Amino acid sequence: MQIPFARPLLGAEERQAVLDAMDSGVLVHGPRLHAFEEAFAAFTGAPHCVAVSSCTAALHLAWFHLGIGPGDEVIVPAQTHAATAHAVELTGATPVFVDAEPHTGNIDVGRIEAAVTPRTRALSVVHFLGVPAEMDGVMEIARRNGLFVVEDCALSPGASIGETHTGLIGDVGCFSFYPAKHMTTAEGGALITRHEEVARAARRQRAFGMDRSFAERTMAGIYDVPELGFNYRMSELQAAIGVEQVRRLPDFLRRRAENHAALTEALAGMDGIRLFDPAPDGVRASHYCLSVVLDDALAERRPEILEQMKEQGVGTSVYYPAPVPHLTYYREKYGYGEDTFPVAARISRSSIALPVGPHLEPGEMRTVAAVLHDALARTGGAG
Ligand SMILES: *Cc1c(COP(=O)(O)O)cnc(C)c1O
Repeated sequence: MQIPFARPLLGAEERQAVLDAMDSGVLVHGPRLHAFEEAFAAFTGAPHCVAVSSCTAALHLAWFHLGIGPGDEVIVPAQTHAATAHAVELTGATPVFVDAEPHTGNIDVGRIEAAVTPRTRALSVVHFLGVPAEMDGVMEIARRNGLFVVEDCALSPGASIGETHTGLIGDVGCFSFYPAKHMTTAEGGALITRHEEVARAARRQRAFGMDRSFAERTMAGIYDVPELGFNYRMSELQAAIGVEQVRRLPDFLRRRAENHAALTEALAGMDGIRLFDPAPDGVRASHYCLSVVLDDALAERRPEILEQMKEQGVGTSVYYPAPVPHLTYYREKYGYGEDTFPVAARISRSSIALPVGPHLEPGEMRTVAAVLHDALARTGGAG
């Protein structure tokens, strides 16, 4: 028996779409990119969508457009992927980390204001594991302090607050189409925004800062470059896969929700673990995975538990292996001690991410729970 943590679901449609894109002879700057942007905008309800080469690229473009740099500060959650902080760091600005709150792993909104200084220009959040952060509080602080807000939505396609999709509450939302995420384009990302000028800037800056797109050029090779930019483009092959994946995304999300519910039920009453809070009423989660937090006594033995689950064929993961400020680059650069960001550190140290992806059936969730139960029992105590 094998229950992998994640597996991209690519079928005949994706294969045909890639072949068609190859045969078209147009590998970048083509109709598939446009179709993908339209489809992802329609899925999220975004007025503007700009597809790029990764979520990291989307985050970097969001900050680059703002013109932040050395001397500026940006609030970043401690409990996230290194990319959320790297995107700030790449501009020369300083990420200022805020600890997680223990019930969801999302940024602790009550601690944000204490991290704001006269140098703070912007604020970022991640919707941890697909449960939206407490955006009312975040936006209130942003308004009061005049801060631009970027949502890292790498784990939150399909997650919304009321009628608003994540990524459209703040100023910019950034998505990832890396293979382990909710849908994939192999590598890829997208930025969505309510602001037309942000989308325009991202379109120029994803392609070297050129003043007109390929389609807008009346004469091949004739353009000017009034500003700095990158090559953060998504290819037609990736966009072709993306068009098919967005079509299947509602089904993927439905299956994730079913698996998540089945696993929650199968874990009910299990000793030695706790679960994060579900999304509150009116808030929809995207069920990236189901993370359990081990009791302190078991946390030290997590490597054995993970090993035993692996031997039994159940794939797991850890989100994230350390708070970003404890990763060597940030620790050495900014000198964060081990006792900083204790809530994020405890989640990093003690949690196990269990699979709920659409490659699995609700029936397999009982197996995941049983294998965890056995591993906990054998490791000492729980069960
Ligand atoms: C995966 C992930 C990223 C990075 O996405 P890429 O598309 O690989 O750049 C960024 N932020 C979060 C929260 C992620 O989980």
